[in-house]
Amino acid sequence: MSDVTVAQFAEVLKVPVERLLVQLDEAGISVSGADAVISDDAKMELLTHLRKSHGHAEENSTGGAPKKITLKRRTQSEIRLASNQGRARTVNVEIRRKRTYVKRDELEKEARQQQEEVDRKRREEEESRLEKERLERAEQERVEQERRERELREQEAARLKAEEEAKAAEEARRQKEARKRETGERERATEDIRSWTKVAAEPERAPVDDKSTRYGRQELHVTSDISGRRKKKRPARRGGAVTVDSRHGFERPTAPVIRAVEIPESIKVSELAQRMAVKGGEVIKVLMKLGTMATINQVIDQDTATLVVEEMGHTPKAAQSGGLEAEILASVGVAGDLRPRPPVVTIMGHVDHGKTSLLDFIRSTKVAAGEAGGITQHIGAYRIETPNGQIAFLDTPGHEAFTAMRARGAKVTDIVVLVVAADDGVKPQTEEAIQHARAAGVPIVVAINKIDKSDADPERVRNELVQRGVVPEEWGGETLFVNVSARTGAGVDKLLESLLLQAELLDLKAPGEGPATGVVIESGLEKGRGAVATVLVTGGRLRQGDVLLAGQEYGRVRVMYDAAANPVKEAGASTPVVVLGLSGIPAAGDDAVVLPDERQARELSDLRKARTRDTKLAQQQSAKLEDVFSQLQSGVKSVQLLIKADVHGSAEALRDALAKLATSEIQVKVIGSSVGGITESDVNLAAASGATIIGFNVRADGAARDAIKATGVDVRYYSIIYQAIDDVRSAMTGMLAPEIRDQIVGLAEVRDVFRSPKFGSVAGCLVVDGYVKRSNPVRVLRDHVVIFEGELDSLRRFKDDVSEVRAGTECGIGVRNYSDVKVGDQIECFERVQVARSL
Ligand code: GDP
Repeated sequence: MSDVTVAQFAEVLKVPVERLLVQLDEAGISVSGADAVISDDAKMELLTHLRKSHGHAEENSTGGAPKKITLKRRTQSEIRLASNQGRARTVNVEIRRKRTYVKRDELEKEARQQQEEVDRKRREEEESRLEKERLERAEQERVEQERRERELREQEAARLKAEEEAKAAEEARRQKEARKRETGERERATEDIRSWTKVAAEPERAPVDDKSTRYGRQELHVTSDISGRRKKKRPARRGGAVTVDSRHGFERPTAPVIRAVEIPESIKVSELAQRMAVKGGEVIKVLMKLGTMATINQVIDQDTATLVVEEMGHTPKAAQSGGLEAEILASVGVAGDLRPRPPVVTIMGHVDHGKTSLLDFIRSTKVAAGEAGGITQHIGAYRIETPNGQIAFLDTPGHEAFTAMRARGAKVTDIVVLVVAADDGVKPQTEEAIQHARAAGVPIVVAINKIDKSDADPERVRNELVQRGVVPEEWGGETLFVNVSARTGAGVDKLLESLLLQAELLDLKAPGEGPATGVVIESGLEKGRGAVATVLVTGGRLRQGDVLLAGQEYGRVRVMYDAAANPVKEAGASTPVVVLGLSGIPAAGDDAVVLPDERQARELSDLRKARTRDTKLAQQQSAKLEDVFSQLQSGVKSVQLLIKADVHGSAEALRDALAKLATSEIQVKVIGSSVGGITESDVNLAAASGATIIGFNVRADGAARDAIKATGVDVRYYSIIYQAIDDVRSAMTGMLAPEIRDQIVGLAEVRDVFRSPKFGSVAGCLVVDGYVKRSNPVRVLRDHVVIFEGELDSLRRFKDDVSEVRAGTECGIGVRNYSDVKVGDQIECFERVQVARSL
C-alpha cells in the first residue's frame, strides 16, 4: 500500500479522524495532524496496540468472550428523484444500523443471582420473624403458666377455707337442730329443715382472706363468668359527700367463688345450676362433656350431680337422706323394756339338698293348721312353738333371697341353718351359703340331711365342712351339727333344740311393747284383698288398726293373719303376719314402722315415692345413654332379661342372682323386674330391647300372648329359681344342648264350675288357645299367677270322654286332687318337649 494520510486512513477504517489521532497518540505514534502521512509500520504498530488493549479487555471478561457486542453499520446511497419540472434531483440517503448482542447464559446467570439474592433476603427476614414470634410466645406461655399457678394456689387456699366454713356451718346447724329438738317444736323444726336445705343451696360468701387476694380485697362479688359490659357507675345521688373506699374497684376476681353445694339423691338440672349460681346452659355443657345429654328440666342422680359440681370447681356435699324423714322416725322410736325374743332362722344350702322339704316338714308338723281348709299358707315366713320356745322361719330358702334382703339393709336373720345332703356333701352353693352367713355375721347350725338314705355319709360331710372352717362343737369348734331326715322327720326336734340353744347364746332381745317396727318379707296383690304384705315384726307390738308405713306404702292395718290363716289381733317381736290394708305393694326388705297418725304416714310415703321416682328416672335416663355408648364401643355381648314374678321376694332374688352371672364377655342386663302377670307393655319393652322375658310363676295375659306371637319375643316360664339361673348361665356359656322344656300347648278359660259325683269339681271351659290333651299335665292360673300344677282327671265334651279339645270348643275339665277351681281361672295345658336352646 502507498503512503496515505491520517485522514485517508481514518476514512478507510471508518472512524473519525480525531479518534484515530487519539488512538495513534495512545499507541505512541506521533503524527503532526490529519494530513500527516502515516507509514505502514506506523499502521502495524497501531494495530498491535489496539489488539493489546482489546486483549486486555478480553482478559477482564469472565467467559473469555465479551458479554456484549454492539455492531453498527452505516450505508450511504443516492436516490435520483424525477422532479415535476422534468429535472432530475439527487438525494443522499444514509442508513445507520446499530445492534447489540448480549450473551444469553450471562443474562440468565445474572437473573439467577438476583433471584437468589432476593430469596436469601426473604429467608433471612422470615427466620428472624419466626424467631421473634417464638420468643414472644414462650414469654406469653411463661406469663400464662405463672398466672395459672398463682390462680391454682389461690383457688386451693379458697377451697380449704370454704371447706372449713362449711364444716363450721354444719356444726352450727347440728347444734341448732339439737336445740330445736329439745324445745320439741315439731312444726317449726320441720320448717327449719326446709330452710336449712335452702341455706345450703344459697351462694356462700367467697372464703378468701386478705392475704390470699392480690389487692387485699375482702369480698368477691363476681361470677365465674367474665362480667359483661356495664354502664359507667354514676355517683349515687345522695345528700352527703360520698367517700369511696378505694379497695372496692372493678378488679378482676382473683379467685372463683367456691360453693359447698348440697346434693339430694336426685336433682333437677335447673336446681343444680341455681345452687352453684351458674346458668343452666353451663351445667348442660358440663353434662355433655361427661357424656350425658340432659335438658334443663331433667332430673339427674346424685352421682352425676356430684361429678358436675366437682367439674365446675365447687364442693359437692351429699345431702343426708331425708331430714324430715329422720326427724319423724326418730320421734316414733320404740318404747318399752327389752324382752327376750324368738330367733329368726333362714335355711340355706345347695339345690336339692332338701331345704324345701325340711321347711315343709317343720311347717306341716309344727304349725297348727288354721281354719281355712285345714292348710297352712305360704306367706314367706312362719313361726313354730316347741316345748322349749318359739322359732320363726323365713321360708324363701336359698342365699339369693337372704342376700337380696341384706342388700336392702334388712338384717332379719339371726341363725342360718345350713342344709347339706349326707349323700352329696359340700357343693358350690353350700360354700356360697357359708360365705354369705359369714359376711352377715350370722351363726350357722348345720343340718346334715337325708340320713335315712343308705348311701348317707354324715362323717364325710363333717370332714368336708371342717375343711371350710365350719367345725363341730364336739371337735372343739363352735358350730352345732345335727343329723336329720326331712323325709322321716328324724332329728328335726333335735335341730329345733339346737336352734334354741344357739339363740340363747345370742341373747336376742327386742322391745316387748310400744309401736311396732318390722321388715317386709313378701308382698303381692290378691284379688279381693288388695295389697298383701307379710311383715316380720322385729320389735314392739303390731296391732290391728295401727297406722303402718311399709317402705313407701302406708295404711291402717285392716286385718292380720298368721301363717295358718288364723286372724290375729296383735303380733309381737319375731312374729310374721300377713297385713291387709296398705295402699300399695311394698318391696321385700322394706322397713315397716307404726306411726302415731295417718297424716305423718302419708307425708313420709309421698316423700319416699317422690324420691324413688326421681332416682329411678335419673338412673333410667343416664342408663339409656350408657347403654348406647357401651354397646357401640365395647362390642360386648349382652343378655337382656325382663323378670316378672308372683311375689317381690322372688323377683328380687332372681334379679340379683341373674345379674351376678355377668362376665367380662357377656353382660347380663335386667331391664326390669316386677310383680304380676306378663302384660302387653312388658312384651313391647322386651321386644324393643331385645330382651328375654323370665316369667316366674306368672303367665302372659291375652293381649300379651298376641304381642308375643307378633313380636316373637322369647318368653320363659319357671317355677324354680335355680332352673332359671341355670338356663341363663348355660345359655351364656354356650352350652346350648337340647333341653326338656315345658311348652304351653293350650289354654282354657273356666266359664262355669259344677259338681259331679264321679269327678268332684268339674270346670266348664272354653279352649281359647291351642289344644287341651287328656294326657298332658296342666296348671291352674288365677290372675295369671300359677296356683296349682297337676294332671287332668277328666276331659269331656258333652257326655263323652275325649282325648283332645281344640281352640274355640267348650269342654268339661276335672283337675286331679284340686277342687278349688273358680270361674275366671285359666287352665293351661303343657307338654314336656325337647327343644334346642337359644337365648
Ligand atoms: P331343695 O332344692 O334344697 O329345696 O331340695 P328339695 O327340698 O326340693 O329336695 C330335693 C329332693 O330331695 C326331693 O326329691 C326330696 O324329696 C328329696 N329329699 C329331701 N330331703 C330328703 C330326706 O331327708 N331324705 C330323702 N331320702 N330324700 C329327701
